[in-house]
Amino acid sequence: MSLAAGTSITPNISNAELQARARAAYLGLAIGDALGATVEFMTPAEIQHTHGIHNTIVGGGWLRLPVGQVTDDTTMALALGRAILEGQGFDALLIARSFDQWMRGKPVDIGHAVRRGLMYFRRTGEPFVSENEMDGGNGACMRCLPVALATIGCDEAWVKEANRRQAHITHNNPLSDAACECVITMVQMGMAGYSKESLLKGPVTTLLNNQPKFIFDQRERYNPTGFVVETLQAVFQAFFATDSFEACLVNVVNRGGDADTTGAIAGMIAGAYYGLENLPQRWCTKLDKKVYADCDSQAQSLLEIGKGNASV
Ligand code: MG
Ligand code: MG
Repeated sequence: MSLAAGTSITPNISNAELQARARAAYLGLAIGDALGATVEFMTPAEIQHTHGIHNTIVGGGWLRLPVGQVTDDTTMALALGRAILEGQGFDALLIARSFDQWMRGKPVDIGHAVRRGLMYFRRTGEPFVSENEMDGGNGACMRCLPVALATIGCDEAWVKEANRRQAHITHNNPLSDAACECVITMVQMGMAGYSKESLLKGPVTTLLNNQPKFIFDQRERYNPTGFVVETLQAVFQAFFATDSFEACLVNVVNRGGDADTTGAIAGMIAGAYYGLENLPQRWCTKLDKKVYADCDSQAQSLLEIGKGNASV
């Protein structure tokens, strides 16, 4: 496949540190999901009334989750990761089948666009839905981490193409694509050791220039919905206003709304940026053991795919 020239993000840290940051990004996604799910769809006032400041992984929430369990954000990312590893790359049919198999496993929750896209795939065998302005939900963005891991060091055009092969199975929408591309680049730059200012001046500014709807200010976005613009505005405000993984995650989930997904996306970015040693132990030990093991092993295997694809 020939691809247009573009920039690629080359890690300038040791391989061991890169692996540790990849694991931190995946565990960060799962931690944010598990932490946020408790308060998903609550308002900040309801959270305050029930939990004070919500900062412990306790399960519950509207899904009545066991302690340490995760939702579709993490389990769809794992389904995507399995398909990438099975195909040693981005085969849209394999990814669609893996998502379909995930749906057959009766996940605890599933978004409308995801269900609609996967039912379309079952009916037609076509992996991609057509472009739809209603697909601006955060469902493709919440699961995009495996793309970031499996394309680090690759040409920018290939990173975008790889993401579309997973995203367009359920969400074919320019706002969703732009959001995924921004988050993927932020994760890759975080893993590669770039500064927070570089993340702001690079992928975030590109997103704001290309899609001004995402412009965010210092006023905090409360009750972010599942619309990917509101989701990322909350994530950006929390990430850039705090200086640790823990503070970022506590900040974002206490805004309520789609808190498992703001938590998941903030968790992957902050995990990549702050690194494994800065994930609070009390959160890591509360995560479901199988989820922890799956995230941990996929993170390392997906990085290997990235090395193989770097010259695609
Ligand atoms: Mg969820
Ligand atoms: Mg959610």
